[in-house]
Amino acid sequence: MKLVKHIANLGYGSRKEVQWMFREGRITDADGEVLYADDVVDHEAIRVDGERLDPPAGLLLMLNKPVGYTCSTKDKGRIVYDLLPPRFRLRSPLLSTVGRLDRDTSGLLLMTDDGGLLHRIVSPKAHLPKRYDATLAQDLRGDEADVFASGTLMLESEDTPLKPATLDVRDARHASLVLTEGRYHQVRRMFAAVGNHVEALHRSAVGGLTLGELAPGEWRLVSDEERASSL
Ligand code: URA
Repeated sequence: MKLVKHIANLGYGSRKEVQWMFREGRITDADGEVLYADDVVDHEAIRVDGERLDPPAGLLLMLNKPVGYTCSTKDKGRIVYDLLPPRFRLRSPLLSTVGRLDRDTSGLLLMTDDGGLLHRIVSPKAHLPKRYDATLAQDLRGDEADVFASGTLMLESEDTPLKPATLDVRDARHASLVLTEGRYHQVRRMFAAVGNHVEALHRSAVGGLTLGELAPGEWRLVSDEERASSL
């Protein structure tokens, strides 16, 4: 791909603006030698204003989504894209969230511009486990793990039962729930179905990926090796 298009696709500007960046000598190689639009150079060797380029197309990143941010680009309030470098919103192909977390849910959110990967992760056929840590308004009754594992629980206004899910009770008001599907507000609705209410919800794992040391609001790239071993 031509350098101008490559750099414009990463959100640095329109093709016209990137042409100007070349003319102004702002695009160089790793040694500071000015590059020209027709040069053939590896992504890794390109610098804009002395800085490495953002990751190329095909990226996967994880974000520790704080409460109060939505996954939609259309929401007028705070959105998860506000937590990424502004250029990331202008990339082509677009960076999408892999599934969604509610505004009031925190935790591990994946984002990618790789449509095939996105499809593979969210596909019901993937059965990729996702772990949610819930804080509950009332003490657990004691039968919830059996109800959730039964594969017969029906949510209101749905016509197929939920797949078996694993509940790991930590104490009377704290439990982790592992799901292999992703229905609308599923965790909150599952606890509502057993007479409880979720006060706080945090996704702590997707497949083998966990947040590790990533603080709320921070993001990092997921490497190809992690992708292969964890998703
Ligand atoms: N289930 C929910 O209820 N909310 C989420 O954000 C994710 C799963």
